[in-house]
Order: sequence, then C-alpha cells, then structure tokens
Amino acid sequence: MMFFEKDESEKTGKEVIKNLFFFSENQMLDCNQYIVKNEDTSELILFDAGNGISLAGFFKGMEKLNLNYENITKVFLTHEHVDHVLGVYKLMNILKNNPPEIFAYGATTKTLEEGDETKILPIALGITARRLGVEIIPLKVNDLSQIKEIRISSEFKFQIHYTPGHSLGSICYYEPEKRVLIPGDLVFKGGSFGRYDFPGGSLKTLINSIKYVKELDVTYLLPGHMGISENGNKNIELSYRMIKSMGSFY
Ligand SMILES: [Zn+2]
Repeated sequence: MMFFEKDESEKTGKEVIKNLFFFSENQMLDCNQYIVKNEDTSELILFDAGNGISLAGFFKGMEKLNLNYENITKVFLTHEHVDHVLGVYKLMNILKNNPPEIFAYGATTKTLEEGDETKILPIALGITARRLGVEIIPLKVNDLSQIKEIRISSEFKFQIHYTPGHSLGSICYYEPEKRVLIPGDLVFKGGSFGRYDFPGGSLKTLINSIKYVKELDVTYLLPGHMGISENGNKNIELSYRMIKSMGSFY
C-alpha cells in the first residue's frame, strides 16, 4: 500500500495488564505506543502516534495481538514532538472515512491546530516532515487543558496531569486504580529523564514536574522511549534524584 513506506519492521507488542498494550519504539526517531482496549465496544484508544514511518510496523504488531487498527477511535498525545505526533497525520489519512478524535493539552493542541512545523520538528533535528513523507496540516484537536479526568472505558479512567519541562505541551496520563502512568518524555526507566534543551524546555520546570509526579502511586511506568517498568515509584524516585544532582550545576 502506498502509504506504507520504509520502516516496516514490526513494533513488537505485549499486553501489560488486561486490555492495556505496549508497543516498543522503532530505532529511528520513533516512540513507544500504548493501546487501551474498550472491552464492551472493541474501540481502541491510542496513546501517542509515533513518527508515521513506523505505522506499518505498528499495525503488524497490533494484528499479532488481534487488535485491528481500524478500531482506533481516539488518539491521546503526550506532547507535540515529531516522534510522538507525526503518525497522527498518516493515521488520519488511512482512517479518513472514520477518522479518530485527537486529544492533546494546551501548547500541543495549539501547535497541531496551527500546523506549526517548527514546533513539531525543532530545527536542531535537521529534518523536515516532508522528508519523513508527511505533510503537516492544521488538525482539529480536543483540548484537555480544562479536563481533570477522562473515562476511556468501564475499566480505565485516566487523570490528566500537566508536566512541562521537556516541552510546553507535555502531560502525563495517570490511571490511579491500576497505578499506570504514561508520562511521555518526562521520565524514563532506570533514572533517566527527558531532554530540556528543545524550544519550550526548561531544566527547572522539568525538575518540578518530576517532583510532582513522584507523589503519584505508580506501578506501571509506560514512558515514551526505552523500556517500560513494573516498578514505577522506584524508577521515578531515581529519575528525580538524578535530575536533582544535575540541577545543582545550573
Ligand atoms: Zn519529546
């Protein structure tokens, strides 16, 4: 199919807990993706869209777990960066007869509604959307700024927590009963944390956001890059200690 180009390597998926699936990132400027399945309606809710090129491999990975991409009805974004949002444009094209609703927060919503390529692909990256086979167009996005909690299915309710520092539009999705955190690029497994040197990033703000998230009770840490962890609290604590020790140099 013509919209599937280049990187067709399968994004390997696994069910983390019942009806919540993890798909690990491809190598080139891609991100982890997560799916929540609504058991009653078979609807699929997607968290982050990847870089677009990886979509074909993502669909393959989904198929292996009996998940049909045509059932994706909602896309929740963690922030406005290329490796998380570019897939949205392709997805909207592929599902144009039944396009999913897109959800994002504040600055991310604004960036996507304006179709502002310079914010999606920081110039420092040295690539353009066109080179990745995507045309950035203004999108209709549901803004989560005023929303505290979203009910995705009878099983999953995610709280929205604003956590800037990596970018202006960065949020975490938190499921308190299942103790699941989808933090985007705020914190990663093993004590690492997001970059703060892109436009809109700030070390001080990043430290505050990690400190804030540290108060949540997290078992499943499902970040935008690298692996996932079933030891969330400990990993977030470690990231906080690491960034605090760095912060003292600034
Ligand atoms: Zn990012």
